[in-house]
Amino acid sequence: MKNERLLVISAHAGDFVWRSGGTIAKYIEGGASVKLIVLSFGVRGESNDLWKEPGQTYENVRNIRRGESEKAAKILGLSDYEYWDIMDYPIALDGDTLNKIVFKIREFRPTVIITHDRKDAFNPDHDAVRKMVHQASVMSNSAGVVIEDMPVTTQMKIFGFEPHQTEISEFYPDVFIDISETYDKKVEAMNCFLAQKHLIEYYSNRAMLRGNNARRISGDKTIKYAETFSSFYPRVASKF
Ligand SMILES: [Zn+2]
Repeated sequence: MKNERLLVISAHAGDFVWRSGGTIAKYIEGGASVKLIVLSFGVRGESNDLWKEPGQTYENVRNIRRGESEKAAKILGLSDYEYWDIMDYPIALDGDTLNKIVFKIREFRPTVIITHDRKDAFNPDHDAVRKMVHQASVMSNSAGVVIEDMPVTTQMKIFGFEPHQTEISEFYPDVFIDISETYDKKVEAMNCFLAQKHLIEYYSNRAMLRGNNARRISGDKTIKYAETFSSFYPRVASKF
């Protein structure tokens, strides 16, 4: 793990926790360098419970979401994280955001990027982020995209998060990461999100289900909990 550099790009304040919290904590515990970029706080689209309070404001929801998300990031062990505070629903990605992501990839030089997968049936913001991160990675690896003092990167691995409703989002799991040892941290981090309490049980059940799948596929009976990801590219190996 020590040579791994994991870049996590999350559309909204909580996505990285629900979908990859156990994996992030595992990489950090293993000595990898991990950087998180959260593009938007999800004030408009992913804070429904907070908007039920009378007199609620955009600013207030934003502050609460930032507080929850930062607290969760710290629980997972993250110290390198950035919040870009982009408007969501629809997520306001533009050319400047694209160039900024390319710059961050060149600067951090990840061995692995994890972000949203190609389709999330209920969340076009996630699709848009996936598309832009993919584009940024290709630009970062292209010698003709010149950024002063930022040498071109080589091809990194890229994986997509499992979306909320797998079966209707054309998601196919390529890799299961055993998160049994960091599952408690994931639960603690999930519990920071008062605006999305309903998701805690959902993603606890998901981790258990994926743990069951991972045990069946690998034959490793010690796996209790897992997260699954879809690879953007096929794997190259010298043997099966
Ligand atoms: Zn989201």
